[in-house]
Order: sequence, then C-alpha cells, then structure tokens
Amino acid sequence: MAHQLKNSGCYPVHPKEKANLCIINTCTVTQKASMQSRQAVRKAIRSNPGARIIVTGCYAQTEPDEINKIDGVHHIIGHTDKFKIPDIVLSKEKEPYPHLIRQNILSEHHFEHTPAAVSGNRTRPFLKIQDGCDSFCTYCIVPYARGRSRSMLIENVLKNIKQLKPAGYHEVVLTGVHLGAYGLDLSPKTDLTELLNRICESNPIDRVRLSSIEPHELTDNIVRLVAKADIFCHHFHIPLQSGDDLILKKMHRPYTRSLFRNQILKINELLPDAAIGVDTLIGFPGETQKAFENTLSLIDELPVTYLHVFPFSARKGTPASRYPKPVDSKTIKVRCKKMRALGHRKKMDFYKKFTGKPVEILIEDKRDRSTGLLKGITSNYIPVHVNGDDHLKNTLVPVKIDKIKNGKVLGTLYSHLHEPFES
Ligand code: SF4
Repeated sequence: MAHQLKNSGCYPVHPKEKANLCIINTCTVTQKASMQSRQAVRKAIRSNPGARIIVTGCYAQTEPDEINKIDGVHHIIGHTDKFKIPDIVLSKEKEPYPHLIRQNILSEHHFEHTPAAVSGNRTRPFLKIQDGCDSFCTYCIVPYARGRSRSMLIENVLKNIKQLKPAGYHEVVLTGVHLGAYGLDLSPKTDLTELLNRICESNPIDRVRLSSIEPHELTDNIVRLVAKADIFCHHFHIPLQSGDDLILKKMHRPYTRSLFRNQILKINELLPDAAIGVDTLIGFPGETQKAFENTLSLIDELPVTYLHVFPFSARKGTPASRYPKPVDSKTIKVRCKKMRALGHRKKMDFYKKFTGKPVEILIEDKRDRSTGLLKGITSNYIPVHVNGDDHLKNTLVPVKIDKIKNGKVLGTLYSHLHEPFES
C-alpha cells in the first residue's frame, strides 16, 4: 500500500507533523493485539485532526462492528478490498467508498497478487507466496481473518524472486500463513517441494529462507533438498504448540509428540548445523502441570535452537474460547517464564557451538543499537556482530565467530584476519 501510494505522489510525514491520511493495518491474533489495534486507531484520530482515517487488516475483517464504535473512522475495509485502498484514496469519483463493507473472506479463492509483493526490511525482504488457512486449529482466529488457503502461481514466485537480485538483494524470505499448504489450491495442483525444486533449478538469488512449516508437512524431500542445495538457508521454523498428545488433539493439531520428535531428529541428522525454531502455545484450556512438563521435556531433549513462546489467548468465535478448565493467567505467566528460560539456554548453547568457526553473514541495513556494531545473519540464523564500515551493509561477508558476550555473538571480518576462509 505504501509503495503504491508513494508512486502516486503521496509521501509519509514526519512523526511530529500532521498527516491528512492515516491507514491503520490491524492485527487480531491475540486479545492484546486487538486492544492495541483499537488504541492505534484512537491515537491516529487524536494526533491527526481532520485526517481521513482508514482501518483495515485482520481486526477490521473479524470485528468491524467494534471499530465502528470508534468515532472518527471514515472507512473500515476488510482483506478483500485492502489492496484497493490506494485507488479508493486517490479516486476523484463522486460516489464515495462506503463507510463499512462486511466481506465474507471465507468465500475468497483468489491470491491477491499485489504489484509490490515484496515487503519487510531492506536486507532480507519477505515474499508472501501463500495466504489463508483451512486447518481451523481450535484456538486460532487466523482462518476467520484470512480465509481459505490460496497460493501465488509458481511462475509469479520465480518472477518476483528474479527481480530481487538486480535490485541489490541477496536473500528472500518466503512467507505464508500456512506455507506447507502452498500450491494445493492451484490448478493444476502443485506443492512446496515442487516450488523449491523450481527455485533451486533457476537459482535466482543467493539465499532463500523458509518461514514456518507445520511438523507433519515438512517432508523428507524438503529436508533433503535444503541439505543438498546451497541456495536454501539451514533454518527451519516449526510450530509445536504442545508436547502433550491430549492437548494436541484438543487443539486439532494433526500430529503427535512422537512425530514431532522424529522430524527434529531427521533435520538434525541431515543438517547438524541447522537452526530449528519452535513455537509453543502455553496455557491451552485443560493444560495440566504434567501436560506443560511434557512440552518442556520434549523441547529440552531435542536439538531445538530457539523458541517463540505464546500465552494462550481466548479468541472470540473459536471453539477453544468455550472449552472448560481454563488455565489462570498467573499460572500461564509462570509457565511462559520457564519456557522462555529454556529457550534462552538452548539458543546460547547453539551459538556457543560455533565459536571459532568461519561463517558467512548478510550484513543488515541498521547497526546494532546498543553496541553500534554491524549486525549480520548467518544462513542458520545466528546474528553476528562485527566491527566494520557502512559500505559492507547489504553484502555477504565471511567472518569468524569469536565469542558470546552478554548474549550477543561477536565476530571478526575475515578481511581483518590474516587467515584463509574455509566454510
Ligand atoms: S495451521 Fe496455523 S494458521 Fe492455520 S489454523 Fe492452525 S495455527 Fe492457525
């Protein structure tokens, strides 16, 4: 949206200036996100008197009536029309766009191919190749907000990636709400393995990173391909949510702790240096202390390298919001703290394994705030801090990892060392 608006002559104002147009792209993944979305809308209205206020995104899609209660909003626009916002804003037509349209996202089958499909930070842009989800896990609001699974055509994925290299990019992150379902909606049907094979054949960029893939959808072929082809980053992110089979069943997650264990061990066998990130959802209704400890012990025993820990948040309209035996918020906090501590320990243990080793990092656009050092990411997702000049930003450089200090990985550029680089 920003890209399209800028191309049409709009420009972003300084935070201290008043805007005449505010677009708030909302989130609703947790209760807190919905609350923060409402706060952002109110703040935009307060700080920009007279501005045209447009609210879009997942909260606008699922709870338009809640936004409608806020005075001063001009348009509430769901996902179906989200990418028409620049046209709506710039249109000189007499017939104004309605204040509120309720759109049924579940009947949407078209993958919205936006002109600027790539987004995110400058160094490692995101390319969204899939949207929506058909899984309806019992705690999750996403299918109601994003609709059915739909994918970008393989040719368009390749075309988008190919445009990145001449534009100066070295890495792209392939994202989707349910990446493992990529291509299953297309006709003829395809899948993620086929897409990755095609990317590998056309070799359009230095690095391709995959975002989250469900444990049961991470096929042997995908792991083997990542291990074999240099283009793919040695990095997997796998949502476990719970390591207790009963809770997994109640969550409507179609795998067991044993399948998850096998998947992690398989990655580790073929790619012993791979980063393996895991999502956990803590405090699902009925999660006993024993069930929580099952998750904790499973992660502890496996070569998982970092964790994302989410407290359960009851989402209106989902089955789990009506489930008995809710876990009290204090217990959820205590369990989250314990899980985060485990995640931190595993991450530090992983980093330490690479001390003294040569790695290649992609230097990011912004320096590390606290140290002022350049920061670059390895293929296996280690953020390495090095001393160096600004001209190295957005380049791939060889470095040696020296040590871990205050939780940060410190390294030295090979150009500053007098030894050959052997990766
Ligand atoms: S697979 Fe992921 S996005 Fe889909 S319903 Fe389950 S948690 Fe939500």
